[in-house]
Amino acid sequence: MVEEKLHNIEEYAKKFNIPIIQKEGIEFLEQFIKEHNIEKILEIGTAIGYSSIKMALISKKMRITSIERDEERYQEALKNINSFSLQDRINTILGDALTLDLSEKYDLIFIDAAKAQNKKLFLKYEKNLREDGYIITDNLYFHGYVFRKMEEIESKNIRGLVRKIKEYTEFLQNNKEYETKFYSLGDGISISKRI
Ligand code: SAH
Ligand code: MG
Repeated sequence: MVEEKLHNIEEYAKKFNIPIIQKEGIEFLEQFIKEHNIEKILEIGTAIGYSSIKMALISKKMRITSIERDEERYQEALKNINSFSLQDRINTILGDALTLDLSEKYDLIFIDAAKAQNKKLFLKYEKNLREDGYIITDNLYFHGYVFRKMEEIESKNIRGLVRKIKEYTEFLQNNKEYETKFYSLGDGISISKRI
């Protein structure tokens, strides 16, 4: 039943081109959450609730706050979360993460929103990170585009995003307050640990 419902969300995402986390990525994230006793998560970029639901299903202790700016996706996420009866443990917020202000602290912040905003989101939300918490970012390979030659990428828009993502990767590498590890899993994932 659970597997079937998850499968339906995966199919919906495929059909409507919604970039939910890849299988390899979510399995890695689940493992990481279990190994580090993470219970309280802030997710930026809910989409239709897939990654939130997967994380919430790890254990009854999991509590997730997730932000989504797109109303239609937000509604779909609510529907999916309700269908798993997870509405008490996943708090979905409709709004732009860049203008919201949260006061709580989290064990893990999962950045999975607009890729050009990674750095801004990191700097805005690090105040919400528990002292020895982690910030995880998805899609550092941007569907493989970061490995392509810039001049071979036709869309100016995508070139801009690729540049931004590369800048973000450098920002993580140079950030002395965190130790960041990069993983060639799914679409490229980083884990930054506060030092
Ligand atoms: N975490 C989801 C996928 C998220 S896709 C999963 O793996 O299942 C990225 C989502 O981030 C999109 O739905 C997009 O609307 C949302 N988003 C992008 N920028 C945002 C912002 N500044 N604030 C809130 N949501 C944002
Ligand atoms: Mg992603």
